[in-house]
Amino acid sequence: MMKDKKYKGIGASDGIATAKAFLLDKPIFKIDDSKISNVDQEISKVNAAIEASIKNIEHVKTIAIDKIGAEKAMVFDAHAQIANDPELKNEIISIIKDQKVNGAYAIDVVFKKTHDLFANMEDDYFKQRASDVEDVRTKILSFFLNIELPDLLAIKSEVIIVADDLTPSETALLDKKYVKGFATNIGGRTSHAAIMARTMEIPAVLGLKDITNAVDKNSMIALDGSTGDLVIEPSDLSVWNKKKEIFLKEKEELKKYINVKAKTLDGVEVDVVANIGKPEDADNLDSYGAEGIGLVRSEFLYMENSKWPTEEEQFNAYKYILEKQKNKLVIIRTLDIGGDKKLNYYQFPHEMNPFLGYRAIRFCLNNPEIFKTQIRALLRASAFGRMGIMFPMIATVDEFLKAKNIVEETKKELTKEKIAFDSKVLVGMMVEIPSSAFLTDKFAKYADFFSIGTNDLVQYTFAVDRMSENVSYLYQPNNPALLRAIKATIEGAAVHKKFVGMCGEMAGDIRSIPILLGLGGKGLDEFSMSASSILRSKKVIASLKHSECVELANKAIDCDTAEEVNNLVENFLQKKNLI
Ligand code: PEP
Ligand code: MG
Repeated sequence: MMKDKKYKGIGASDGIATAKAFLLDKPIFKIDDSKISNVDQEISKVNAAIEASIKNIEHVKTIAIDKIGAEKAMVFDAHAQIANDPELKNEIISIIKDQKVNGAYAIDVVFKKTHDLFANMEDDYFKQRASDVEDVRTKILSFFLNIELPDLLAIKSEVIIVADDLTPSETALLDKKYVKGFATNIGGRTSHAAIMARTMEIPAVLGLKDITNAVDKNSMIALDGSTGDLVIEPSDLSVWNKKKEIFLKEKEELKKYINVKAKTLDGVEVDVVANIGKPEDADNLDSYGAEGIGLVRSEFLYMENSKWPTEEEQFNAYKYILEKQKNKLVIIRTLDIGGDKKLNYYQFPHEMNPFLGYRAIRFCLNNPEIFKTQIRALLRASAFGRMGIMFPMIATVDEFLKAKNIVEETKKELTKEKIAFDSKVLVGMMVEIPSSAFLTDKFAKYADFFSIGTNDLVQYTFAVDRMSENVSYLYQPNNPALLRAIKATIEGAAVHKKFVGMCGEMAGDIRSIPILLGLGGKGLDEFSMSASSILRSKKVIASLKHSECVELANKAIDCDTAEEVNNLVENFLQKKNLI
């Protein structure tokens, strides 16, 4: 067997893994339209396969609930619904009756048609349903044809899963005790498999193009989830074991920063806080060293519901988060829906450029009942801790004032109704559109705080679709143009002594943190990032002098290109042994 076959993919979840491959082969069904003579018998075989699939889905669901909780296991409800769908079943039966063809053929035709119907829909939510339909097709056919599927639940030794992609239902079944890593043909840092890998803290390399063909069953694999390197049959496992040891040792060492206030060597304090999606994400933030929450993406509450969440549901969710955080500041962003974020109970109007269209605060200001329900829930929850309410996608002062006005109106209503809220609740905004970055000094008269959303600010500064792989070379957070927009925000906010944080991915990138600490002479006040990046960021901050970051930032904004800035920062970090 050839040794040391090297591959490079996208590092999607940090960590080193070495283990045997578990090839998640999609089964190949040989299906033709051969005729049958006994129609009734064929129909009862189809019924039996559907029944067995439903039972199997129910069984898998109970196991998944145990492993990942009821909410994430909901994907299996969708599967059961599809398998149970009477229309699909009737269509299969009609085909068998009318054409006298075998059941596998009829199942295949009906499910493929349904799959294509979903896959061709504009709406991302329905597009994703196509993969659920495909999962159910595979399951029913495997029962019908008596072909065993790779059984993720049967994994009882250490493996690295190698697959084309991992569907939500597959990731839900993985046992962290045995699954040491993922390697997939497709996907990137924001794909479902990547997000699951980071949540489960399993090292992952994705986007390897053809890894499923390169790997044999039982090949030994080593991968590095930060660099994206993967080796099949590594000749020297000891090198990888050493890497693993260093990674784990560093992870252990970083723990000393858990309860240490983020502070530079020359005593400048900043807040290093977490971005979260769901209330449960607030459960053990202390163990990640979080000093508060800089972004609650409240849209998760809406996206995971089957209808608009009620005031009570929202109140309970926000209160839960505030109570978990005790006296730490929790910034909750109001509904940021539209663009790539869809709801299954609301159809957004079709637009040529949804990212530039009807979304976030634009949608909320146009739907005051929906917006007000959220503001009431937020204000009521504000009585249980320290809250900042943050509006997304603000482009003009007028928009901010309209949104703030709704908060003020709602406060008056609650006072009249004698319902408690915190009168000192902060009201701030995201800076993710260049127009607001350059006018921050004006916004600062009215807003209590700012949080820079670089994920979108980069997109709108360079006119680069953040989801497009074709133009990803233009996605340049460290480009001096973006750094100048951030500097303008920091300086504008300082005019009225308002604080500025950042909750885009850039805030947790150690190749940007030193610049962000120094931009505008003052730097950011707060860095908000995914919880798993907090300790390393705290270490970097604790290893730097603020004064030298100011110097570095001044040099960076004077560079011509992002590449020049990247070289500058890398030299800076290398000299300090931080990379
Ligand atoms: C951002 O745009 O940087 C941000 C934090 O918001 P989201 O990624 O949710 O658009
Ligand atoms: Mg955004």
